[in-house]
Parts: sequence; structure tokens; C-alpha cells
Amino acid sequence: MTSGELIWTDDPPFPENAQRAVEDSQLRRNLRKATATIRERRAGLVAETPDWQELRRAGAAIKDETLHHLDAYLERFERNATQQGAHIHWARDADEATGIVTQLVHRTGQTEVIKVKSMVTQEIGLVNALERAGITAHETDFAELIVQLAHDRPSHIVVPAIHKNRAEIRRIFLDHLPDAPKDLTDDPHALAEAARLYLRKLFLTTKTAVSGANFAIAETGGLLVAESEGNGRMCLTLPETLISVVGIEKLIPTFRDLEVFLQLLPRSATGERMNPYNSIWTGVSENDGPQSVHIILLDNGRTKALADNTGRQALRCIRCAACLNVCPVYERTGGHAYGATYPGPIGAILTPLMAGVEHAPELPFASSLCGACYEVCPVEIDIPTVLVKLRHDAVQAKKHKAQDATFAAAASAMGGRRRWSAALKTARLMRFVRHAAPPPLSNWTATRDLPDPPPEPFRDWWSKRRSP
Ligand code: SF4
Repeated sequence: MTSGELIWTDDPPFPENAQRAVEDSQLRRNLRKATATIRERRAGLVAETPDWQELRRAGAAIKDETLHHLDAYLERFERNATQQGAHIHWARDADEATGIVTQLVHRTGQTEVIKVKSMVTQEIGLVNALERAGITAHETDFAELIVQLAHDRPSHIVVPAIHKNRAEIRRIFLDHLPDAPKDLTDDPHALAEAARLYLRKLFLTTKTAVSGANFAIAETGGLLVAESEGNGRMCLTLPETLISVVGIEKLIPTFRDLEVFLQLLPRSATGERMNPYNSIWTGVSENDGPQSVHIILLDNGRTKALADNTGRQALRCIRCAACLNVCPVYERTGGHAYGATYPGPIGAILTPLMAGVEHAPELPFASSLCGACYEVCPVEIDIPTVLVKLRHDAVQAKKHKAQDATFAAAASAMGGRRRWSAALKTARLMRFVRHAAPPPLSNWTATRDLPDPPPEPFRDWWSKRRSP
């Protein structure tokens, strides 16, 4: 397991987190209102798109084609991006990726960067890693800014501050936003204006930006960021240096493939016919935009997920969050309960697939298997089938863990004469609880009795006969 924040290791497991979340009625109200709004908008737009199912099938097919030949498409992307003046870096895990970004920022001599909203930089824990290296990363997406100022974590893929209402946001701004007006109200325009004034200064003075990408186009070596606020466009055009961290599953073969995804993504993500801002950049353009462009292609468990025959379809994900908005579990618990960067149904499969099911064994069970996620997924990821498969893997992993622990205990007991004698004495005492032994032996005594140990161990029997 790599470091970073793919799994929040300091969080309790899902059942405990979820219990706490469902007791928070304010959180449930915020979530219900926000998810219902996006759900309705999405449903209306899908209904007016007659070829929606064909688009879904095309999206899935393009992603599958890319994943089946990922090595070739990655090399093609590298070649074309390099030809256009970008520098390509490869990172196996979160440590390598954050190390490369830190080095690149140090090289610019800057101590501040502006950031475009990006799930992959959350996944690798980039902001914290930069902070440890003395670099301040400023989130520029409105919702990410709220989350950052509140020292909180995002709880939704597209709407990171979905768990906060207007009154809470006003409080956060008054407490933490530099130069927030004292008479700030919770009117959305007033809140947006306060953030805009603060961010504008950052856009005009910061010389290095960090982004992710929604798509990486192998044919051209270009990257695309889709967003609603224009903050991304500022970050991608104004600074001198641009560093983009891109998961290797973001590849698509050709520019024309965007025709499919730029219809699927906005309708599924925010309930819009198109994203207000689609920024595409291909390497460096002389005297136009950043003159130093770096792209870090990140694995961090993606090749592990690719090796899973059933689970690899999760890598088609375009992070639209439609599956979160329809999930009855997510709507009641919110994103934090999942204890990982990727929440909701996609998180319940992606996190165990990328980190290993033994590191998140409870997540595949965080679902009612109602199938709503599959119905809305724009790239036809059969999340329920993957969940069932991962549940099987989690049970097997638990069994292996219990077996490993039993054999380790047996090896230790048999490893020394004294320890073995003590183990035999304990075994004799166990006859008093042969119908209801303590865990983990209770798994056995729930359905069977423990066999009676012999009244006298062989060693005792032998030493009695050997003694004069
Ligand atoms: S799994 Fe499908 S619905 Fe969920 S975020 Fe990914 S693309 Fe969207």
C-alpha cells in the first residue's frame, strides 16, 4: 500500500463511520437536498437525449479499447506530448508522484502554487505533501476552497462541499477567508463574490499551477479539463509552469472520442448539456500559456485493478458522480463515511481494487445492491457485479488472515518445549468451553464441539515411564 490518501488510515471502518453519519440530521438534510437536485437535472437531460443508451455503449467501448491496449496508448501519448514540448514523468505510487511535483516546484523557486480541482491529487495527498516541503497549495475551485479553509475533506467527487449548507459556508469564510467582508451574508452571490476577490489576487500573482485532467488524448498528446467556474482556465493559462498529475486510466485514443465523453460527462455530473469551460492544452505554445509543462502519469494501484478480470471495468470511470447521487447508502451517510478519497458506489469498488481488498474489506459491503448506480453510469460500469465479486474476495482474504494467524500461533507454540507444554495445558482447560470457545475458535464451536484433549499429554506419560 502506498502512502497518500487513497484510504484514510486514521479513520474507523465504514460501519462505525456510517453509524455516526446517519445520526447527524443536518448532514442528512444537506445531502438529500443536494443529491435530489442534481438527480432531477440529470434525469431531465437524459430524457431529452434520444441516443443516450448508444452514447453509454460508445463510452464503455472506447474506454475498454484503451484499457486493453493501455501500454500502446500510453507510449503514443508520451511521444506526442513530448513532441509538443511537454515533459512526461512516470510515477508508480503516491510517494513518487508527490516527490516529482515537489521537486518541480522547488526548481521554479516558488513556495506557492494554485490548484485546479482534481481527485487524483487528493488521492496522492498532494497538498499535505507540498506543505511538508514548505510549499502552500491554494485550492481555487469554490467548493474545494471551502473544504480547504475548513480543514475538512471533500465528501463528493463533483461537489466536494456537498455536506455544507450556506450558513456553514458563511461561517467558514468569516473565520478563515482572508479579507472576507465583516457583513458577509449567506446569499450565494455574496459568498461567490468574496471567494472571487480572494482568488483573483492568487491567479494574478502565482507563477505555478497544479492540475489533474479529465481526459488525456493519445493521438495528440493533449489534456482536457472540464469545469464550471473558470478557475481552472485561469490556472491553466496564467502561470509560467503547469504540472498535471494524470491517472493512466484517463487515456482515450483520439480527439474525436471527446465527442462522446463531452456529452456523457456534463449531463451525468452536474446536469448540464455542456461544461461551461472545456480547456484543452497540448504541450507548449510559444508566448501563449505556461511555457513549462509537465505531465506526471500515475499508476498507484491502477495496474492492479487492470489485472482483475471483473473489476477492471471500474477504470472506465469518468468521475461524474452520478452513481453517488442515486445511491441510497451514500445519501444517508455522505462521503466521509467511506474513509477514502473515492466515496459512494465507485469508491466501494475502486478503493479495494486499487489498494487491495484486504486494506478496505468492509467497503464492498457498503451497498444495498439495488443496481441504481449501474443504471445511471454513463460508461456502463456494472458496479453491483463488481461489488459481489469483491465481497467474495474480502471473505477469502479474511479466511486467509484467520488461517495465517492460526498457523503463526501453532508455529510459535511448537517452537519451544516450554511454550508447547503451556499450550497443552491451555488446551486441557479448553474442555470447559468446548461448546462455546472464545473468538476466533468460536467460529468452530458455533456449529461443532471442540474435541476433548487426551487426559495426559504424551510428554508427561513418557517422562513418568523414563524416571527411575
Ligand atoms: S462509476 Fe460511473 S456513475 Fe460512478 S462516477 Fe464513475 S462514471 Fe460516474
